[in-house]
Amino acid sequence: MKRGKVYLVGAGPGDAGLITVRGAELLGRADVIVYDRLASPRLLRHARRGAELIYVGKEAASEASGQERINRLLVEHAVAGKTVVRLKGGDPLIFGRGGEEALALAAAKVDFEIVPGVTAVSAAAACAGIPVTHRGLASCLGLVTGHESLDKAGGGLDWSALAAWPGTLAFYMAVANLEAIGRRLTAGGMAGATPAAVVRWAGTAAQQVLTGTLADIAEKARQANLEPPAIVLVGKVVSLRESLEWFQRRPLFGQRIAVTRAADQAGELAQRLEELGAAVTECPVITIQPPADLSPLRQAVANLRAFDWIVFASVHAVEAFFAALTEAGGDGRSLAACRLCCVGPATAARLGQFGLHADLQPEAYNTDNLIEALARATDVRGLRILCPRSDVAPPELLDALAARGAGVTPVVAYRTQVDKAGAECLARLVKEGNVDWITFTSSSTVRGLLSAVEPEAMRHQSVRLASIGPATSATLRRAGLEPAVEAAEHTMVGLVDAMIAACRGREVRE
Ligand code: SAH
Repeated sequence: MKRGKVYLVGAGPGDAGLITVRGAELLGRADVIVYDRLASPRLLRHARRGAELIYVGKEAASEASGQERINRLLVEHAVAGKTVVRLKGGDPLIFGRGGEEALALAAAKVDFEIVPGVTAVSAAAACAGIPVTHRGLASCLGLVTGHESLDKAGGGLDWSALAAWPGTLAFYMAVANLEAIGRRLTAGGMAGATPAAVVRWAGTAAQQVLTGTLADIAEKARQANLEPPAIVLVGKVVSLRESLEWFQRRPLFGQRIAVTRAADQAGELAQRLEELGAAVTECPVITIQPPADLSPLRQAVANLRAFDWIVFASVHAVEAFFAALTEAGGDGRSLAACRLCCVGPATAARLGQFGLHADLQPEAYNTDNLIEALARATDVRGLRILCPRSDVAPPELLDALAARGAGVTPVVAYRTQVDKAGAECLARLVKEGNVDWITFTSSSTVRGLLSAVEPEAMRHQSVRLASIGPATSATLRRAGLEPAVEAAEHTMVGLVDAMIAACRGREVRE
């Protein structure tokens, strides 16, 4: 039988964006992924469907027997012909036991490849604003384990040599021994006033940084109850942080935000929020499904000459409409006689991807604006208007158009359904108090929340609700929930801006 191969892949320091392109590609190809505690669980999204995921976090942290079991696991799967990714926090060969695993593979004559990763010190340096080497301040960097037993003998390290180190020292696994490390370096002759920093969960939204001196950093860490994982940096370069700190200054740094959109749309909002420093959990509380009965949409598509205008109420409406049109053998030309209206920029952009330009897109979306814009563009009376929409779309727009004398044909183009798993994920976050904000991008997302969480339970938590616009806010209020912010521009960008403004403590609603 063909033997498989093991890839020892560096997962980076905990942020899913900090894996290498090669690492991500291999995750997508693996039959088996063996991962541990420090690798971001989000990375597993790269895994292909059906890949076997094996968590070995606990073993890795403990005895040699755990390591042996991992080695055996890697060899066995490779011998069985599998492509195995061994995903390890940071870089596999820096305090990662990657060497031991590679030796076990070599001994078993298993083919392997080692893919480097961003080690914790690199993340700590970049994200705490501490250039670990810097002209004039540090010409070398020492990576040291703080885990060696620091009893009388001081472990296997030569502490006077370390104390005389002519550059920056970076300690891994040092939180528990911080005080002993400070003592030994000072005893070896390093000045107590040497700047020192502890960087916890470097590069993630949970990052914490303490700065001080060799003499007082242990006490500061104790007072802050600082827990692993953290990197301890010692050297003059630590003082540069004052000028170079950027990571924790980002406007949404540390805010824990739940995104409730349907999974296929959540990514863009999540990415935007993460770039601003937020810790995002995607809890898609709704899913978009085809309608129970497709015939009204099919009929409308087969009879487009019967309509003067089509009003697309969402991106999903555009997608469902074009799916039906393509199925019927039509294309953009089938719409030559129709004029097209989109409720917002995202919907218009989706239409653009089908090669079509919206004739009309109201400045700000609500029913009144849309009707006014339409009335300005044309005489609404007698117009034949097709409205492909969701099964739960509210009637206001249809009623208002009809009241103006238009002939309106609503067709259900898609169904918006509550996603139970997503709603439960959100309920858990709320219950455990692990969320600062919940974003609502439609009334349906509010209904998704309410399917799993009692409004009463929400009021007891300090979680803030961010609404994309008046219709969504009204749905929240009907459940007795008050949005903390409402987007001034009813788009993702507007929603994010409203949260930023609130975090800066500014008044949002004009
Ligand atoms: N192979 C890993 C290190 C594993 S040893 C690497 O290259 O980064 C585990 C230690 O790494 C922790 O005790 C801590 O000192 C450090 N560490 C890992 N991730 C970290 C992070 N995000 N922030 C700070 N320290 C981290």
